[in-house]
Amino acid sequence: MRLSRYFLPVLKETPAEAQIVSHRLMLRAGMIKQSSAGIYSWLPLGYRVLRRIEQIVHEEQQRAGHIPMLMPTLQSADLWRESGRYDAFGPEMLRITDRHDREMLYGPTNEELITDIVRANVGSYKQLPLTLYHIQWKFRDEVRPRFGVMRGREFLMKDGYNFDLTREDALHAYNRHLVSYLRTYERMGLQAIPMRADSGAMGGDDTHEFLVLAETGESEVFYDAEVTELSFGDREIDYDDVAECAGVMEEFTSRYARTDETHDAALFEKVPEERRRTARGIEVGQIFYFGTKYSDALGATVQGPDGKPTALHMGSHGIGVSRLLGAIIEASHDDKGIIWPEGVTPFRVGIVNLKQGDSATDSACDGIYAQCVAEGLDPLYDDTKERAGGKFATMDLIGLPWRITVGPRGLAAGKVELTSRRSGESVEMAPEEAIAKLREIYASHP
Ligand code: ATP
Ligand code: MG
Repeated sequence: MRLSRYFLPVLKETPAEAQIVSHRLMLRAGMIKQSSAGIYSWLPLGYRVLRRIEQIVHEEQQRAGHIPMLMPTLQSADLWRESGRYDAFGPEMLRITDRHDREMLYGPTNEELITDIVRANVGSYKQLPLTLYHIQWKFRDEVRPRFGVMRGREFLMKDGYNFDLTREDALHAYNRHLVSYLRTYERMGLQAIPMRADSGAMGGDDTHEFLVLAETGESEVFYDAEVTELSFGDREIDYDDVAECAGVMEEFTSRYARTDETHDAALFEKVPEERRRTARGIEVGQIFYFGTKYSDALGATVQGPDGKPTALHMGSHGIGVSRLLGAIIEASHDDKGIIWPEGVTPFRVGIVNLKQGDSATDSACDGIYAQCVAEGLDPLYDDTKERAGGKFATMDLIGLPWRITVGPRGLAAGKVELTSRRSGESVEMAPEEAIAKLREIYASHP
């Protein structure tokens, strides 16, 4: 993309309404624009990151054997009456009446809708196990929408639902989700720690939230410092292997790590004092096992191996796709702007032309740009007439992890500069070398 033809409305001033750094930076970098409280338009740069995050979520869910689909945002109130949640959900649910006076709602989540689909189409245990998911907009009429996309009213969520014959199978599905979530967040350059949580309105026994540690987080968390040393890394995993998935679950959840809702001071005391931590965290996902709660309420049964109707064991598993943009920025920025991890960056490399209009510099930039495009390095080429300082400031603000700077002086020696946004370190090298380096870096971020 050439910046002269792009739409990147960056702001010089810090918007007064933004209280936290991720919200400020998303507004300043021209990623989002509020349309009404807690509801945002995704401008081209923000939309690019949103799509990258969605893509990673899709890939990791499908790697785990989960099946993508898409359910509507508007749902009928009747189904929610069957489960008893129409009244239980309260004022957070946006209720709508259509022209025929039918009661509808903008879905805050999808347990009812998916259970309805499954009860209508799955009749035998032989069709199990089954995990379906979608990435769809949700609406929750939050009392205090704030912090930009972090606590919106309309927000994008990945929600997945497993249907199993037995509790054991459903717990395997739970573990599979835990593993897939660990991989998902790590690919985004984030450490999200699974913590024992409270099941709240969902109901059920087993639930973990995934938290990114950040001072601006809304949850208070208590943990054993050892949990921050764990990483899933690039190990192979067989998602059908029950023991292997259970082993990962054990590894990542056996140490003390809880949100304030389930915090147990006496248990926490047993963690050696020097490893006890109290901090704040951002919830970027949650997994639940809730047994037959919804299948009982909605009559979702299958014929079991003994020929008898058996209620389905279910769980639901969410990732805050749009909230993740805020969480990643909270975890990765400096006073100049955002620092995107390679896995989610909107463009992989920025190209800065220090002397736009100079024919030799322009043609060198055009060549580098064309080669980056050809190699899938998705460049953003600043080909505007802005002075160098302004170009650097914009690149730093929007946070591309790598920058190639091209100027007449370097070119005279056959060199450009490759700069890391994270370390600030610049190295002079031939253009082909810079591209080779980027190729190598991005090889591990497909
Ligand atoms: P919270 O406790 O933050 O209100 P929740 O526990 O009610 O969230 P879930 O039902 O678990 O939310 O939804 C799955 C994920 O969706 C959450 O882990 C979170 O990342 C995201 N999410 C929930 N509410 C919002 C919101 N208002 N704005 C943006 N993302 C949200
Ligand atoms: Mg939650």
